Amino acid sequence: MQSYDLIVVGGSFAGLMAAKVAAARGLKVALVERKRDPGEGVRTTGIIVKEAADGIDLPPSVVRKVRGVRLYPPSLAHTDHWSPGYYFLATDTPALLRHQAAEAERAGATLLLGTRYAGHEETATGVHLPNLGLEGRFLIGADGAQSAVARHAGLDRNRRFLGGLEFELAPQVSVDQRFLHCFLDSALAPGYIAWVVPGAGVTQAGLAVRHGLRPDLNAAMARFDKVFGWGKPQVLARRSGLIPVSGILQNVSTPRAMLLGDAAGHCSPLTGGGIALAWRLGRRAGAAVADFLDGSGAHPASVIAKDAPGYGVKGMLRRVADLAPPNWMWNAVFGTSLFKAVTSRIYFHASGSTAPPPSASRGQLE
Ligand SMILES: Cc1cc2nc3c(=O)[nH]c(=O)nc-3n(C[C@H](O)[C@H](O)[C@H](O)COP(=O)(O)OP(=O)(O)OC[C@H]3O[C@@H](n4cnc5c(N)ncnc54)[C@H](O)[C@@H]3O)c2cc1C
Repeated sequence: MQSYDLIVVGGSFAGLMAAKVAAARGLKVALVERKRDPGEGVRTTGIIVKEAADGIDLPPSVVRKVRGVRLYPPSLAHTDHWSPGYYFLATDTPALLRHQAAEAERAGATLLLGTRYAGHEETATGVHLPNLGLEGRFLIGADGAQSAVARHAGLDRNRRFLGGLEFELAPQVSVDQRFLHCFLDSALAPGYIAWVVPGAGVTQAGLAVRHGLRPDLNAAMARFDKVFGWGKPQVLARRSGLIPVSGILQNVSTPRAMLLGDAAGHCSPLTGGGIALAWRLGRRAGAAVADFLDGSGAHPASVIAKDAPGYGVKGMLRRVADLAPPNWMWNAVFGTSLFKAVTSRIYFHASGSTAPPPSASRGQLE
């Protein structure tokens, strides 16, 4: 039996961050990840909001700045939105996750890749993972929206999801590189949006739909073709996944284990964004476990609960979005000042503008 202070299940945004910080604090950390390579089979678009990007050192080669948002109503008569100084980062997500894995390893964590968690037993002093021959003083389940750790520990599980599907395309020059292109259309993407992202080395085109429906990416590609005139672009890869939109889960810990990231519902029920929170709370969880195990801190789950957002308003807006307003309604409200105010709040968390970004002309790559 190999003994560790902390065992982390899941080697993605949340788990890798928690493992890195805990190892840097001097804990003996093992991270169990079922994939052989943390960058393979990525299930996210990988857009990072400015607030998250500002708090982390990312290699310039894996990110690309996008200044604003171009919104298309069903009529396709688009408007542009941006906020001075604000930006999003499109990412080479596989490379980004490999970078995070290397950082965790450099901090001293042991990465057990190609290793599947299949249950654990908890005692008064820690946990055992009998099938893997591991024991630890604490366990973090950062194994995603359909967490096996939550299931085995009898903890809360996400119940509502958006279903997302995306193509990675060869870079498309007809896509204005300054913007995330977001399509509002309740027939195409009920409950969410369809999108085209000028990514890092690829163009990403996808959509997500509300719980229980299947995304029709071919229909979305036909809609995108009307705007970008790209015919049948070369598809390089496909990404798909479930986005938890139940809100923050409540019963997420036992005395020696806790859930983190999507497993704990740490994902905006409205926008489906979870990377920023996975990093922020992952960092916090790594430090909180170190404090807890040296006897100086409270249970890590209570530390995280204090730091996690409530998502009250976003949860309410999710229920409104799930109603999928008819397209004539989208066309009618589009461009009104109320619509612009809500858009700025959602995308820029502040006041925005519909004037064009000052730099980077159409088609220019940064
Ligand atoms: C289509 C789509 C697009 C998205 N786009 C964005 C976006 O642009 N921006 C944004 O902020 N958020 C986005 N999200 C949400 C974001 O991807 C998640 O919130 C984020 O990935 C959560 O990170 P995590 O570490 O909690 O879990 P995950 O990224 O889900 O990682 C879980 C890890 O656990 C591993 N694992 C699972 N089960 C086991 C097991 N039994 N044993 C070992 N390992 C296991 C998995 O292999 C995986 O590596 C998107 C989600 C989807 C589905």
